[in-house]
Amino acid sequence: MPRLLVLSDIHANLEALEAVLADAPKHDAVLCLGDLVGYGPNPNECVARVRALPHLTVLIGNHDLAALGLTDLDEFNPVARAAAVWTGDALTTENRQYLGALQPTAVTGDYFLAHGSPRDPVWEYLETNSAARQSFKLFSEPVCFVGHTHVPRVLAEGDHGSGLVRPMLAGRHIDVLGRPRLIINPGGVGQPRDGDPRAAYGLWDTESARFTFCRVPYPLEETQRKIIAAGLPAQLAQRLSVGL
Ligand code: ZN
Repeated sequence: MPRLLVLSDIHANLEALEAVLADAPKHDAVLCLGDLVGYGPNPNECVARVRALPHLTVLIGNHDLAALGLTDLDEFNPVARAAAVWTGDALTTENRQYLGALQPTAVTGDYFLAHGSPRDPVWEYLETNSAARQSFKLFSEPVCFVGHTHVPRVLAEGDHGSGLVRPMLAGRHIDVLGRPRLIINPGGVGQPRDGDPRAAYGLWDTESARFTFCRVPYPLEETQRKIIAAGLPAQLAQRLSVGL
């Protein structure tokens, strides 16, 4: 599998997902790191689109679990909670069963996948080298992909603040040969949180040993219109404009 498309945190944003799939360079397989639903207005359409992707490895995230009633909603703020309840009502039985069969971690080839982190696959926001140090002990593969923070980021094993933890800019890439093991977050497709409203995703090319952070604009006004029409909290529409 020389080229992998790496997606995370789609959050029922169909316009962002379609833009990413249209923009993505040719690839051989897809890794999807969880949170297919929650926040956005198209949970069923997004689950259907993802599950139809060829050569897919897909995880469940905390918002997927919440929509299925499989996690404590007290962990969520009121806006996220309202969205989880709305999503739970909207999901079809078939899509509930599909999501409910997924796990928050997976190993595929040389890659360890976790929604949050290897240490706490459902809930941990992996944002610092000190947190990463604990998680590096818990997998043996050369590369781990995580989502959950919605911020593109690279963490390197044994790194103590060399700057690799800083959010990665669109179009930036990281060459892996000769580097220590890495934990890579591609950023969020459906609700970016690094101040750039464009949908984020990653492309891993094993032949050149290079991970590229990609961004693509999408018609977010359409998503915002649908969020309001669905009766979801207005903040969920507003934040898409600023990517936070
Ligand atoms: Zn998420």
